Amino acid sequence: MFCAYCGGEVGQDWVVCIRCGCPIGARQPNLIARQYPSSIQQYPQVPTTQGQSDGLGVASMILGIFALLSVWFYGLGVLLAIPAIILGAVQQSIKKSGMATAGIVLGIITLVVVVLFVVAFVAMVFLVLMMFPYY
Ligand SMILES: [Zn+2]
Repeated sequence: MFCAYCGGEVGQDWVVCIRCGCPIGARQPNLIARQYPSSIQQYPQVPTTQGQSDGLGVASMILGIFALLSVWFYGLGVLLAIPAIILGAVQQSIKKSGMATAGIVLGIITLVVVVLFVVAFVAMVFLVLMMFPYY
């Protein structure tokens, strides 16, 4: 073993270096880092993944919100919900994003609501036609 500060040889069980007086325990993190180089190499990757844009996720969420708000205008709701789901899915394939998930969920909710309203409307029309037959 060698002292991390002065480079002098130190005993395995020494607490303090006799040459410079530095605590030998202080070099331990350095030693651990050298023993597991893979753990250091992971650190530079964290900012790179976080730096990647999740703009598609943001766009997906915004589209999803507007889709749900415009659900009363059936066509517009669907027109916004479909790209919201597509953008969210694309974003998820590039990088996991909570906003992309929100966009997908909002888009699906919009589509479900639109389908339910269309089904209810058609059912109502049939009901009215049955109650007041033209023939
Ligand atoms: Zn020393």
